[in-house]
Amino acid sequence: MIPLDVFGSESAAANLLQQVCWRDGVICPRWRSDRTVRNGSYREYQRYLCQNCDRTFNDKTGTIFAHSKVALRRWLFSIYAFLRFNTSLRQLQCEIEVTHKTIHRRIECFTRALDAPSLDLVGPVEIDEVYVSAGKKGRERDQEPHSRGLSTRGCGSYDSDKPPVFILADRGTGQRYVIPARAADESTIRLL
Ligand SMILES: [Zn+2]
Repeated sequence: MIPLDVFGSESAAANLLQQVCWRDGVICPRWRSDRTVRNGSYREYQRYLCQNCDRTFNDKTGTIFAHSKVALRRWLFSIYAFLRFNTSLRQLQCEIEVTHKTIHRRIECFTRALDAPSLDLVGPVEIDEVYVSAGKKGRERDQEPHSRGLSTRGCGSYDSDKPPVFILADRGTGQRYVIPARAADESTIRLL
């Protein structure tokens, strides 16, 4: 679960992204260098200067949200609704006013990117497990021929049509994370 205020405020959304992105410290996405310093801001996002390559980057650089004209809070809302309430991509494209292609691409990136996460949790941690019918998103609800289910795309196919989604609430830090995992087996749970 994501704190609801991130859906209404771009700076709250940016804060959440910042905390999740740099949980292991700020690293230059080009050279993987940690010799970075804060360097102003880009809109709501913190900007950094890499002292190795002398180039700047911000909280969105290198994430699936980079180079999107759509506000981050809208993407977070989409991901949340997609995972938590099984909202179809067709419905979401209307909600956040983007094309089907746009939302399909980002959601697909998201489900692929978070496949085997490693999060530093302070704990105690509560794990809530829900199942999402990812394979049905494209096939049954979205009737247009170009939209295919997430499970049938070439990359990152799921083992089954119902990939488990873990909702982690870290009582130590107050953070909550939504994490799709490939299988709800023991090894995945240990990974988390
Ligand atoms: Zn660099």
